[in-house]
This record gives sequence, structure tokens and C-alpha cells, in this order.
Amino acid sequence: MRVGTRSRTPDRLCAEAVELAREVAEEVAAPRGAGPHLGVVQEGDRLVTHRFECLDPGYRGWYWGVTVARASRARYVTVDEVALLPGPDALLAPEWVPWSERLRAGDMGPGDLLPVEADDPRLAPGTSGLDEALAPPVPGDTPAGEPAGGDTAEAPVTEGAPPVVEPAERARIEAVAREIGFGRPRVLSRLGLEEAADRWQETFGPDTPMAQAAPASCAGCGFLIPLAGSLRQAFGVCANEYSPADGRVVSLDYGCGAHSEAARMPAPITPPPPVIDHLGVDPL
Ligand code: SF4
Repeated sequence: MRVGTRSRTPDRLCAEAVELAREVAEEVAAPRGAGPHLGVVQEGDRLVTHRFECLDPGYRGWYWGVTVARASRARYVTVDEVALLPGPDALLAPEWVPWSERLRAGDMGPGDLLPVEADDPRLAPGTSGLDEALAPPVPGDTPAGEPAGGDTAEAPVTEGAPPVVEPAERARIEAVAREIGFGRPRVLSRLGLEEAADRWQETFGPDTPMAQAAPASCAGCGFLIPLAGSLRQAFGVCANEYSPADGRVVSLDYGCGAHSEAARMPAPITPPPPVIDHLGVDPL
């Protein structure tokens, strides 16, 4: 028995079974029926697909493929399967893209929920140190600050011992952690910070036309609210209602014509007192 060889020409009986294939295609394609025979494609030994044009206007360029087969040394051809398949010029739907890749800034609406992946690279674990403090001691662990092998290190540790932090102490740690911004499960990662900085720099940075034409930069503007954290060195929030950046994060190198020190409002001109001519006579 030869394995892996395939005849280059379609099996004659399978290729001649056009009417058998058409009969099945007409049945499946009802009520429009199948169009002209487009040819045969050899799928394998004694395995041939007959192609018929699809007449459905919604499937332009598609064809009905009826695959027929014949057993070795058999004289009869049988239908294997029927399928509607796209041809080279078929009108196809665009390739499906996951929603997370389709989402664009501004797509969120009221009531929408945007789940964040557990391993979102823009986020990193936030920590207050509380979890570590509450973790029950591991048998054999040496308490911090005490040398292994000392008296304390040899003291037996009860497995599953209650937390070492009392509830009042826990509440105090949580309050302090929240106050200094450590109470969140996750915080911005370095990547998240850099991506945000790039976006802000692009929108309200020194290369924008507004900044190029500004009389001075935001760094010296009284309407700038500085940010906290590492971004403080490069960004702040504009609080000038007349600026196009009001309420937005701006680069310290950004600027606009509403800069607090760039132009002073000119003092109003006081008109001189009216001159009343008591000597003249108005002709009436
Ligand atoms: S008013 Fe203009 S210059 Fe001042 S902070 Fe806002 S954007 Fe910057």
C-alpha cells in the first residue's frame, strides 16, 4: 500500500457526478437554487468538490461546494458534504477584533462598565504593608530584627496563630494608608505613568500650536495647580476657566494666552469732565 501519494487528476467518476452534486446543491440552496457549475477541485484521492455559483444577492462571490467521494473499487459516487463557501472575490465581514482592542478614548458612556484585566500592565499592586503585618507567622520564621538562633528565634510558633495586629491598630494603619494614598489594591505602574504622561504631553504639551504662540509657559502661571507625586515635576492642572485647558492636565511647558502674568488688563481711561460753555449762545 502506498501512503501519501495522490493522483493529480480528479477521480473521473467523481468529476462526472455533476448532476448528483447539482441536485444536492439545488435542494440546499432553495428557493433561489444553485447557479452555473464553476468547476471541480480535487480534495484527495476519489474526493472531489463541485462548485456552483451562489445566486443569493447577499452572498456575492460565494459558491456552493458539494464534495463527493467514492470508495476504493466502488462504482458509485456519494455526497460527502455541502457548504456555502467564500470565493476569492467574496464579500466578507471584516476580521473580528476583540472589544478591548476596538475601544477608543471617549467611548465610555454613563452606566458603562469597563472591566480591567487582572494583569493590566498599566497597574501595579498597591500596598499599605497591612497585609504583610496581618499574615500569620510561618513556623520556623525568625521575627524581624532578631538574630536566628537566639532565644526568641527558638520560641515555638503556633501554626494558625491569630493576627499580630489588634483591630484598633489595624484601623489606625488603614486610616494612615488611605490618607497617604496607599489604601488602594492597585496603583499606576511605571508603564501607566509613562503612557499617561505621553498622552498629556501630546495634547497639552510644548509642541502644540497654542503653546507655540503663548506669551509664557504654565510653569509661571498663577492658574496652575501642581500635581502630587513624581508627575509634579512635569505636569499640573489648569484652573483658568477661559483657557482651553481648563480642568485638564497640562505640561509645565505648555502655555496659552490666558497666562496670569502675560498681559495685564489696561486701566480704564477716565474721561475728562465735560466742559460747559456758559458764554456761548445757541441759535434756535
Ligand atoms: S491659563 Fe494657560 S498658561 Fe495658565 S495654566 Fe492654564 S493653560 Fe497654562
